Amino acid sequence: MSKKKRIPLRKCVGCQEKQEKKALVRIVRTPEGKILHDKGGKMAGRGSYICPKSSCLEKALKNKGIERALGGKIESELAEQLKETLPEKEDGTRG
Ligand SMILES: [Zn+2]
Repeated sequence: MSKKKRIPLRKCVGCQEKQEKKALVRIVRTPEGKILHDKGGKMAGRGSYICPKSSCLEKALKNKGIERALGGKIESELAEQLKETLPEKEDGTRG
């Protein structure tokens, strides 16, 4: 029997659904305690994952999922930055 490759799954802090790690955006809390968008997915620190959707970002900001997962505070600057960064290729989010 051939071995099946396991796809690493991570839970989105917004919708709480498990997705492929590579399909998610990593948010990291650096050792300095700053929460940043980890574009390369390789920054040091504790990581948290979110779907690249503005709806998930909004949920995560509202329920403080990122802050709870990472134990830090999200500055509004970062929230704005994330909003601009997330691709937002979602259909049917209006309304
Ligand atoms: Zn999500």
